[in-house]
Amino acid sequence: MAIRIVKAKGLYDGLGGFINNPIIVIENDVIKEVIDSSFYEKINCYDISEEIDYSSCYLMPGLIDCHTHLMLPGDGTTTEDMITTKSKGEITLVAGQNMEQALKHGVTALRDCGCAFGVSYDIKNFINSGYINGPDIVVCGMPMTSSCGHLSCMGGSADGSGEIIKLIRKQRMAGSDFVKIIASSGASKGVKPGITFTQNELNTAVEEAHRLNMKVSIHATSIEAVKMAIEAGAERIEHGWWMDIAGTTVFQDEKLAEYMIENEIMTCSTLPVMESTLKHYQKLLDTEYSEEIKSAYDSLKSYNDKMLETFKYEYSVGIPMASGSDAGWRHMRFSDGMKDAIDDMYQCGVDLGDIIKICTGNAAKYIGLEDKLGSLVSGKTADFLVMQSDPGKTVDSYNKIIQVYKRGKAVL
Ligand SMILES: [Zn+2]
Repeated sequence: MAIRIVKAKGLYDGLGGFINNPIIVIENDVIKEVIDSSFYEKINCYDISEEIDYSSCYLMPGLIDCHTHLMLPGDGTTTEDMITTKSKGEITLVAGQNMEQALKHGVTALRDCGCAFGVSYDIKNFINSGYINGPDIVVCGMPMTSSCGHLSCMGGSADGSGEIIKLIRKQRMAGSDFVKIIASSGASKGVKPGITFTQNELNTAVEEAHRLNMKVSIHATSIEAVKMAIEAGAERIEHGWWMDIAGTTVFQDEKLAEYMIENEIMTCSTLPVMESTLKHYQKLLDTEYSEEIKSAYDSLKSYNDKMLETFKYEYSVGIPMASGSDAGWRHMRFSDGMKDAIDDMYQCGVDLGDIIKICTGNAAKYIGLEDKLGSLVSGKTADFLVMQSDPGKTVDSYNKIIQVYKRGKAVL
């Protein structure tokens, strides 16, 4: 058995723990144990084939992006345009590039939250077959929506219980790990603001998914949608913005918070996605100012401000959180996704220690892979980042990731 050891100055385990001068013992692609500096002699029992010295650096688990869209380039192209103007082959290449970018930037696992043509299944199978070293991928296939709902262009429309049950069964057969359901509107072309399904339809969907042992994640961009999702029994809330659908009022609801905490219903806020579009509009304003662009910028800015306000409230009351960037969507590139998500959380006052947990241990739990990923403890996959400075002390550390290890192999 190939045993390698990695020495470092400090290690964040992803579960809230920190070890000074640790040694990680890696057997093939799995962490055999993490040794505290006071028990150095323990390494003598191993036949060590390689010693990797990062004794001036810090280690933490690889980042996990719980909300991405592998089929989208994040260059402003809309989902509708990708689907109508690109072939499945072109879209698969975009997805492959995104995955490579994500891994290079420290994302060792990600979850796809909506894809057309079955591309996410293909990419996942390609990586799992060992053709390339890529992030672990969790997929839902097409998100389930109604005929007039957000993302219906991806092909996953269902109306009424019969169609809903059939779609979930087909997605299960195709290889979906979880069911993503759209409960409220989003930025799809032509979709009117509002609620997507009746409560009964949502209940049916969640019941069927659970019967098939699939977890459910619900896209909820208003407090009404969040409440409907929870009523239906969903365990994960995408976006989770506690405001009205227009984004003018933020609701602080202690009872809702208590219920979510008690029942471990987690949320993934996808903070940087709006900001990436705001930056795009800002550039346009600087180069080709028009009243139309200014008004689009202003309304997006006020929506974004409310979104940040709801995030701050949710964090302050202790809602269980996981990291997500919505990479691929509009102007959110995979290369920037997690870095921007981390910057945004930091700007919103999230403690640096909590940021580490949200992006690693919590995120692994969010996507159902906590038995294998998200923490640097015995038995977990050897996915970790090497950083020049201490990520528990400075947010700038995420700009200086000097090496990424995926399944025990150096990526950069
Ligand atoms: Zn999304």
